[in-house]
Amino acid sequence: MTIKCKKCNSEAIIFQKYSGMHLCKKHFVEDVERKIKLTIRKSYSIRKNDVIAVALSGGKDSSAALYIMHKILGERPDIELVAISVDEGIDGYRPQSLEAAKELTEQLGVRHIIKSFKEEHGTTMDEIALQEREKGACSYCGVLRKNILNRVALDIGATKLVTGHNLDDEAQTILLNHFRGDMERMVRLAPPAAVEGLVLRAKPLRNIPEKEVALYALVNDLPVDFSECPYVGEAMRKEIREMLNDFEAKHPGTRHSLLRGFDKLVGALAKELPPAKIEKCRICGETCTEDVCQACKLLGRA
Ligand code: SF4
Repeated sequence: MTIKCKKCNSEAIIFQKYSGMHLCKKHFVEDVERKIKLTIRKSYSIRKNDVIAVALSGGKDSSAALYIMHKILGERPDIELVAISVDEGIDGYRPQSLEAAKELTEQLGVRHIIKSFKEEHGTTMDEIALQEREKGACSYCGVLRKNILNRVALDIGATKLVTGHNLDDEAQTILLNHFRGDMERMVRLAPPAAVEGLVLRAKPLRNIPEKEVALYALVNDLPVDFSECPYVGEAMRKEIREMLNDFEAKHPGTRHSLLRGFDKLVGALAKELPPAKIEKCRICGETCTEDVCQACKLLGRA
């Protein structure tokens, strides 16, 4: 028996447990895009002459983010979209996702900049992974990638830097910060204020569940690489992900509630925990909150 869409008579392709709705392809796409437009309007107002950089890995989230930004803004002559990809140097993984990223930017006609850890930081994730380290591979990768993305975004005069974080990522990070008691990091999750030297981050997919982002990429036939990084780790995030998925299955809407609660709370939290003083790294000159930035510390330059 085919199940019908809640909004028309077509065959449903998804059941949103949290909303109780079955949706067909057309109404699913409409639903996702409406929510993304709302998030952008509420948190990241688009201005005339914005240069919007999109961090593009070639995976489903960032590819969907670039596609939807192009769909919404691609026709506006006053807005420029630029995709930035970072090659971390992960053999057997990153080359194919970079190919997918190139294919998508070519399809959309979006300028595409690719930078690598090797040329920017003099090392690769494969080399870092072989070293004796205090922290997990993802800690290095995240810091070094953010450093490159921000630097390139500044170089091209970007006014916003879009990332593909979805609802699952956001809900996991909120819980993770709670479990670690890291309220300073929690405040940094909120839609940020402008800080000189740091390009404003925007997460237009933050209200869309991960599975829906994947389905959105599939129904729009986006060239996407679905493989998983060999260093994927952060044991605690994995546990939280499993716990949250289990809880969501039993109590649909949990992820949305976590994000809604966080959005209500963050203003008050920010008053209690004012942003850290912004400084310039004495080694590389990057904007940071200490004497030496995280990237220089991790690379042993300090
Ligand atoms: Fe980098 Fe970790 Fe992501 Fe792999 S899983 S690309 S190491 S952050």
